[in-house]
Amino acid sequence: MSPVNTVLTIPEPGASQLQQLPYPKVAPGYVLVKVAIAPICIEHQIYRDHTFEWHEDEYHLGHEGVGTIVEVAEGSRHAVGDRVVMYQGNPCGECFVCREGLSPTHCMAIPYEEMPGQIGSDPHACLESLGGAQLINTPGGLRSIEIACGSESGGFGFSQFRLAPESMVQKIPDDLPFRYAAAANCSNGCTYTGVEEAGVKAGDVVLVGGIGFIGFGAIINAKYRGATVIALGRNAFRMELAQRIGADYIIDPDDPDWLAKIHELTGDKKGCDAVFECSGYPYYQKRCLAAVRRYGQMRLFGFLVGSDEPLPIHLLDEIHNRHVTLTGSHDVNVSHREGLIEMLRDPEVQRATDLMITHEFNMSDGDAAFEACLSKKAGKVYLYPQEDCPR
Ligand SMILES: [Zn+2]
Ligand SMILES: [Zn+2]
Repeated sequence: MSPVNTVLTIPEPGASQLQQLPYPKVAPGYVLVKVAIAPICIEHQIYRDHTFEWHEDEYHLGHEGVGTIVEVAEGSRHAVGDRVVMYQGNPCGECFVCREGLSPTHCMAIPYEEMPGQIGSDPHACLESLGGAQLINTPGGLRSIEIACGSESGGFGFSQFRLAPESMVQKIPDDLPFRYAAAANCSNGCTYTGVEEAGVKAGDVVLVGGIGFIGFGAIINAKYRGATVIALGRNAFRMELAQRIGADYIIDPDDPDWLAKIHELTGDKKGCDAVFECSGYPYYQKRCLAAVRRYGQMRLFGFLVGSDEPLPIHLLDEIHNRHVTLTGSHDVNVSHREGLIEMLRDPEVQRATDLMITHEFNMSDGDAAFEACLSKKAGKVYLYPQEDCPR
């Protein structure tokens, strides 16, 4: 029997399905990883709505993962047996973003300027600048890995065996368990760079609003840097978890005195040094912006795929007159990878990460895993593609 690669697909809303595909082929510049954990990022939204980011479709899903290298091409700088974390994407390695060690999700090979709104989040949309090629085949995306390797499987996260560009795998220390290394992706990892770039330090007051697993990651990062953290949220399960993870104060954004409470906690500065909005909803964007102090920073981690809702900003009052810096990002700079892995070895970070990981499932239990994500009583949810879930 020839070996196969089992992948998880979502052929229609509300129903996931395992599929057996040909075993991956490895080309120079790539490695093959036996995936130990494939965390769920936004795929529960795909399970619910079938709206996609440009780099995924119903048969190509998942972009987070950790595992062990099982095959390398000749001349590889990696070795079979290396335990690694895999980062998302297939960057060019040559543009200024890549050369300066910034985040590969912003690599110039990806023509974001030509895909506003990702063409309505239709996974089968085509881009004229690509000669009419499907969005998912865009350079820089995970499908381009399969294309480069001439492989019928393995480019994506929800796979038993995953192909990854050499530049996108990082060896992890022997003493770092996979469950913590997996947080280097879209939880503690994708928020690390934002918190680092915001210059969060001991003594700062940080607000994290609209909290799910991205918010939990932001709290973990801010506490690791010694900041005081205010969690802004309404969901009782998540707020209790935020507190156990390390948030110092919980404020309900529906409380008429919510902003007065933030002003009280921040004294003369009348606002937070850094604010991280993690939901993508205007309700939270509006409040988060109001909570930033003068000369403070607001970073948008949250986004809604396919939404064209404008940011609810009154420019003069909220940005100019208060000199607020507003930006958004969602991945790890290459130059931050070592610091990130160092953080993931911290015992307090590991304690908080254990709390953040609320559910673990075998990959064959995809429906149950996505339903758990959608329950609003979940933090980060891990899938085990080798069907060896510890729980
Ligand atoms: Zn993600
Ligand atoms: Zn590049």
